[in-house]
Amino acid sequence: MDTDASREFLDSLPEITADGTFCFDCNPDVPCFNRCCAELTLPLTPYDVLRLRRQFAMPGEDFLRRFTTVRSFPDTGFPLPMLRMLDGPGAPCPFVSHDGCMVYEDRPGACRCYPLGRGASMGKNGVTERFFLVREGHCMGFDKGRERSPARWFADQQVAEYNAANDRYMRLMAMVRATGRPLGARLAAMAESCLFQLDKFWELIAAMRIFKRVEADGARRAAVMATSLAGDEEALNFALDWMELVIFGKSEGLAKKVSSLL
Ligand code: SF4
Ligand code: SF4
Repeated sequence: MDTDASREFLDSLPEITADGTFCFDCNPDVPCFNRCCAELTLPLTPYDVLRLRRQFAMPGEDFLRRFTTVRSFPDTGFPLPMLRMLDGPGAPCPFVSHDGCMVYEDRPGACRCYPLGRGASMGKNGVTERFFLVREGHCMGFDKGRERSPARWFADQQVAEYNAANDRYMRLMAMVRATGRPLGARLAAMAESCLFQLDKFWELIAAMRIFKRVEADGARRAAVMATSLAGDEEALNFALDWMELVIFGKSEGLAKKVSSLL
């Protein structure tokens, strides 16, 4: 997910074409093991939080409070949770242990992509991707390793579902950015609840009778309310459609049944 700072950072890196290749491998035997998991500026997307929150079976609000500092995008007003490094020597990631990443199966998209950075921009014909190589002095993964393309690396790291969810979020933010008006406090708070605290979104669905206000068939309602990873993903998709509908009065993925949603 791009921020102005991350776009600037990516632009400063060597670009690699989609069919270009790089040599890299990371495993617990590298001498630099875990060195990359500290002192990070790591923004989390709604999908990152969805995956991490499930690891801890923790309410979204508790997760955000315990592990992140929530800022906001200046140009859109959307919430921007930053993973908070631990205080103390080396400022490690809260999820790193002697044996490596404790949340490996659900680690954030940026950790999966590393050492690649992905810049995505929204155009008329959908998402355009660019890839960048992040080559840090301490990282010895480039010394050995298999030759791979960005597509091969992303497939190996199972990044596809992260990119799909993040691109959907980026599209919504791009729409808001294009208006030149960041979200006001009320919509920003709603975005935090709906997109980063799915347990609160489920409560909101019931409290606001959202299913009575929008066109959602039985299968979609059941999928949104299902308690499974697939259910969380459906709930996030629905939350993104809902936010788009609330902000713009229409959404490609969801139609309203009533004139006033709020
Ligand atoms: S090789 Fe690079 S990515 Fe792997 S542990 Fe070392 S610093 Fe981290
Ligand atoms: S989430 Fe895991 S992979 Fe990412 S920085 Fe933290 S420990 Fe490292």
